[in-house]
Amino acid sequence: MKIYADNAATTKMSRRAIDAMLPYMEDCFGNPSSLYTIGQQANEALTDARERIAACLGCAAREITFTSGGSEADNQAIRSAAATGALRGKKHIISTAFEHHAVLHTLEQLKKEGYEVELLDVHSNGLVTAEQVAAAIRPDTCLVTVMYANNEIGTVQPIAEIGAVCRARGVTFHTDAVQAAGHLPIHVAEQNIDMLSLSAHKFHGPKGCGALYVRRGIPLRSLIEGGAQERGKRAGTENVPAIMGMAAALEDACAHLNETMPRVCALRDRLIAGISKIPHCALNGDAQQRLPGNVSFCFEGIEGESLLLLLDDRGISASSGSACTSGSLDPSHVLLAIGRVHDVAHGSLRLTIDESNTEEEIDYLISAVEEVVTYLRGMSPIWRDLQNGKRQYIL
Ligand SMILES: *Cc1c(COP(=O)(O)O)cnc(C)c1O
Repeated sequence: MKIYADNAATTKMSRRAIDAMLPYMEDCFGNPSSLYTIGQQANEALTDARERIAACLGCAAREITFTSGGSEADNQAIRSAAATGALRGKKHIISTAFEHHAVLHTLEQLKKEGYEVELLDVHSNGLVTAEQVAAAIRPDTCLVTVMYANNEIGTVQPIAEIGAVCRARGVTFHTDAVQAAGHLPIHVAEQNIDMLSLSAHKFHGPKGCGALYVRRGIPLRSLIEGGAQERGKRAGTENVPAIMGMAAALEDACAHLNETMPRVCALRDRLIAGISKIPHCALNGDAQQRLPGNVSFCFEGIEGESLLLLLDDRGISASSGSACTSGSLDPSHVLLAIGRVHDVAHGSLRLTIDESNTEEEIDYLISAVEEVVTYLRGMSPIWRDLQNGKRQYIL
């Protein structure tokens, strides 16, 4: 059996998204800034895509800027809000310890440029609260940026409450919604969101394409200088095919949320229940407040990387902490942020499923994980020490 269980890393493009892209690579290949017919056709397509994406988010089309993906949208939102704040003498930024690196590394850079960055602690259940945000806001706070849903442990933050706190205090609120868009309902107006980042390849659209929502009245500065595309907020000829694919994929995902969410949640809960039977393991993050497709565990006496290789042998594509992908031996900053100690954080496994998975596949995943964990523990000196009492179990 072949099972792709790494949808948080990227998703397979849907047929609908591919079909929406093809005309703009074939006959309608014109530059949307050109005045002749095929250019104007491309331009009309962009207008249409912008309106459809805005409708999915509950905002106006003019509040959407197309970007090259989630990372660029995060960088632009944060840098823009920081620069606007600095003009008003406000250089304090609030975020959390478990953001994506697109946010954390941008904030680290801003720190070097003289901003004060405060990272809120994340509770052991993988959640931050609106009260924490309220307590951290100061008169010189220019930006609060808190991710909608975490990419490793899947926990979903109380975004509307955090948005309400920020709105009441007059602080710009950005959320990295890359994991949430297309997977959870989003309504930027109702949730008091000022800026929101999304990325097409996380909801069955193409890679290298994303969008940034910025509420009307909030200034947006461009990150990339050049032509006047995107109302001067993002230079560069628009990736028309990818944008059409993104609009089709988001519309498709949002139109079916009512049926896919409960189905994927049920598969997720079956997977969590099955894996939980393995001794000395623990679910990472709250069991309820989590993305429909996210299952994340830590196992004692296991190294995440060998787990992945053995699962790959069984046809399963999975992931451990994101740090491993960068070739680094540091355990994931997300798992450390929720209080997992180094040894345990190294034995992590993330399975991210979607609406195409079946119960049969879930059961195959459970038995494969059980088999591989048992096998690896059989060879692990740490596991031997745990068993004969030389070392204490943590989980
Ligand atoms: C994938 C991801 C990003 C980066 O998006 P790209 O389009 O790959 O640049 C940012 N934030 C989160 C939470 C993500 O999961």
